[in-house]
Amino acid sequence: MSNEIIIVTGASGQIGSDLVLKLRELYGNDNVIATDIKDPSKEVLESGPFEEFNVMNRERLQELIKQYKPTQIYHLAAMLSATGEKMPLKAWDLNMNSLLSILEEAREGHFKRVFFPSSIAVYGRNIAREQTPQHSPKNPSTVYGISKLAGEKWCEYYYNRYGVDVRSLRYPGLISWKTEAGGGTTDYAVDIFYKALSEKKYTSFLSASTALPMMYMDDAIKATIDLMQADEKELTVRSSYNLGGISFAPKEIAAEIKKHIPEFKIDYEPDYRQTIADTWPISINDTSARTDWNWQHNYNLEDMVKEMLTQLKEKLNVIT
Ligand code: NAD
Repeated sequence: MSNEIIIVTGASGQIGSDLVLKLRELYGNDNVIATDIKDPSKEVLESGPFEEFNVMNRERLQELIKQYKPTQIYHLAAMLSATGEKMPLKAWDLNMNSLLSILEEAREGHFKRVFFPSSIAVYGRNIAREQTPQHSPKNPSTVYGISKLAGEKWCEYYYNRYGVDVRSLRYPGLISWKTEAGGGTTDYAVDIFYKALSEKKYTSFLSASTALPMMYMDDAIKATIDLMQADEKELTVRSSYNLGGISFAPKEIAAEIKKHIPEFKIDYEPDYRQTIADTWPISINDTSARTDWNWQHNYNLEDMVKEMLTQLKEKLNVIT
């Protein structure tokens, strides 16, 4: 067992709800402190410490550092892409200033390692959208993408200038069953399962052929922990690693669901989120992650759909 003590911000969200449980399994329940402004899941609350923490409150951060003496912070709290477009200045303020507080505390030597989640939203218009390379030009067109790109650059700056060991991944759209999705452009790929089980039909807010990079949550958690445990010497990217898994469009996931629920029907009413998706990559080249720290994903579309339906049927008590 290592001596890590970990604080996770935004721990009640889609990623945090899974990540905290995995970290507790690895590092011990009492050594992983979940924090958020929202109540956590029952499992997170019952398995270890939870602290209310608004990441905009630097004094509260300092209090938590003094109390728990963390060695690592996973900074998940943020405003996501679709919600960010409704409140651009609030999204910028939250996404940037919370990261800068944590980087500053790390620079002062209070803990040694930081995880920052970036996103495929950093890419934006006029880029190679297929197999988008690690070092492709970036031209984000949402405030979320702008904040994530600026965040990556700050992470790289703190590493180069002050030696802060900050590590980051550009997550694709994440699919999971423990918590519902939190206001992103890829949320349809989670919502579709709930509606498929409850109503056997779904109206997609993206068009039938809008393919985007996606990943099952178990793979995202594995990538996060693999990166955070990687030997510092192996890491060549200090902005944020491209992370690829699967890539599919609404019509493809619908066809896969239909194999399990033959009556399932999908129709399409693209909304403002279509405009966001149109600027995002279709698939990602993640050779740097695969070479530097041996990243490999386990779930393809077929496995992911099977697993989501199995887990959600149990969670929602659906009898088929
Ligand atoms: P989410 O919206 O489900 O969870 C975010 C959590 O942050 C919520 O529980 C919310 O209560 C909390 N939060 C919001 N404002 C806060 C504040 N001021 N102080 C403390 N907590 C606050 O998001 P998620 O999907 O779990 O994403 C986590 C991180 O991963 C985010 O930084 C997001 O940008 C990034 N990311 C997510 C995806 C995805 O598909 N889920 C993809 C790419 C990147």
